Amino acid sequence: MKNKNYVPHAWESVNCPFCGSNNSFVYERFGNELQYNNLKCKICGVVYFSPRPKYDGKFLEDAYAKYNDFNHITYEYSDRLTKNWDKEISETLSFIKSPNSVLDVGACMGDYLFSAKKYFKHCYGVEVSEKMASFVENKLNLKVFRDNFTSLTFDEKFSCYSS
Ligand SMILES: [Zn+2]
Repeated sequence: MKNKNYVPHAWESVNCPFCGSNNSFVYERFGNELQYNNLKCKICGVVYFSPRPKYDGKFLEDAYAKYNDFNHITYEYSDRLTKNWDKEISETLSFIKSPNSVLDVGACMGDYLFSAKKYFKHCYGVEVSEKMASFVENKLNLKVFRDNFTSLTFDEKFSCYSS
């Protein structure tokens, strides 16, 4: 039986990640049906993957969110899951004068934030996966920004970041 190919919902073409040039040629094809290209930059010689699956919330859901049963009642926070976070947070807190807000970058299923809620007045998450973001919001009743960390801007100041 043949492996099922992953079909991205969207593609993006990128320039050379080293020099920024778009002057390139197809260097090799790869993948099950040679559906992917590596390009070689004519300027600096770097070989890079392009076009590539568009890196956004949908892609991340395809890539990893389906492995977590976030839509289902079966996912519950437990002390077993979060006890390492409790430990880590208490250690971090010894370096923080006044623990006020925490921002968890890549909130995922919210295990960290579940623990953090016990220690910080305000807890926020950042999560590119829409499904995970709304799961955590509903479950923990806090704000999760749907975004990529690099494109986020905040008015608020945080006393602790996690990722
Ligand atoms: Zn280049």
